[in-house]
Amino acid sequence: MAITQHPVYQREIEFRPSAPGRFPDVPEEDWNSHTWQLKNSLKKLSQLEEHLELSEEERAGILLTGTKLATAVTPHFFNLVGEDPDDPIRRQVMPRIEESLVDPTEMSDPCGEDSHMPVPGLVHRYPDRVLFLVTDRCASYCRYCTRSRVVSGVSDQKLETQWEAAFEYLERTPSVRDVLLSGGDPLLLSDARIDRILTRLRQIPHIQFVRIGSRIPVFLPQRITPALCEILQKHHPLFISIHSNHPRELTTEVRDGLDRLTRAGVQIGNQSVLLRGVNDSLPVHAALLHKLLMCRVKPYYLYQCDLIQGSSHLRTSIQTGLDLIEGLRGHTSGYAVPQYVLDAPGGGGKIPLNPNYVVSRNEERIVLRNYEGKQFVYPEVGGMPSEVASPVATQADNL
Ligand SMILES: *Cc1c(COP(=O)(O)O)cnc(C)c1O
Repeated sequence: MAITQHPVYQREIEFRPSAPGRFPDVPEEDWNSHTWQLKNSLKKLSQLEEHLELSEEERAGILLTGTKLATAVTPHFFNLVGEDPDDPIRRQVMPRIEESLVDPTEMSDPCGEDSHMPVPGLVHRYPDRVLFLVTDRCASYCRYCTRSRVVSGVSDQKLETQWEAAFEYLERTPSVRDVLLSGGDPLLLSDARIDRILTRLRQIPHIQFVRIGSRIPVFLPQRITPALCEILQKHHPLFISIHSNHPRELTTEVRDGLDRLTRAGVQIGNQSVLLRGVNDSLPVHAALLHKLLMCRVKPYYLYQCDLIQGSSHLRTSIQTGLDLIEGLRGHTSGYAVPQYVLDAPGGGGKIPLNPNYVVSRNEERIVLRNYEGKQFVYPEVGGMPSEVASPVATQADNL
């Protein structure tokens, strides 16, 4: 039997450099320096307008961000921003006036983190793991940031991590075996700070597993220096969850930075957010996932966009996400398929969302459909009558 594959899954994989793009006169040494990239990040209307023709919606949005989530885009990532205001890279980092439209279902703390902090800066929601917020700054700001209430330092609410109290809480809480460093972006801290934090965590015997959530490998791959990799590899087992939403974000620079991390023994997963006009189509998603695998990155979670204030222009329906997963599972490598999750509003934590493959089920058997829609029957243990009917089977027969 011939197996046919839809062309959606067969796109050629191509890595392109971001450099030099809109910055042809910058010496290579500067471009490759993460401090240069940060110093020259585009933050102001005038800087952005120098390179891009802004739409009215964007111009108004940028002026608005003085008191909400700040605007910042590294030159590296800015080179990936297309000329069309609806470009998928551009929608992620360029503010739009729609951010000021607040739907009544939206919240400033959609995942209910502030109410789950035993110590300021430490979110302890699940039994064995904690989220440790180690900085409020990022290299660039995602417009749909779930933590925009504290991130970027321009809003009234400030992240006030109590460092000593947080470490003491971890030391006296043996149920915590997994610490997730996030923020903000932990890899924006200096090498010495990162080393100190990881060293302190590694002194706690019950902490087995440490991971870092970071978009730096995508926004600022220049930060993934050999010196940083050397520090990270002292603290294994260490995982990093990167955040990439669109295949164009995976440039040669990003691929090479990820290669340095994986060579240092860091396991890398990707978390993406399902965003309208960015990655809500199967061809884009399949290309992203396949490119991630080529960088040895395992797609980990696909998030339904949180109900963060001012995000309605970026959110999709849940059916869109379910359809995407259905279009992937079985059609392509299982390693490429992330788990689609929704972080429950108000603080319920992550809940998996899956297409339904169960057609019907009773005590005797389950009827399932496969990725092609064909149906299959599997007997429940003790369910289907065999030569000698078990009491359970007899009972089921009578139902
Ligand atoms: C996402 C998250 C974690 C980690 O969850 P995993 O499913 O283990 O990746 C831990 N704590 C909080 C508060 C989180 O939001």
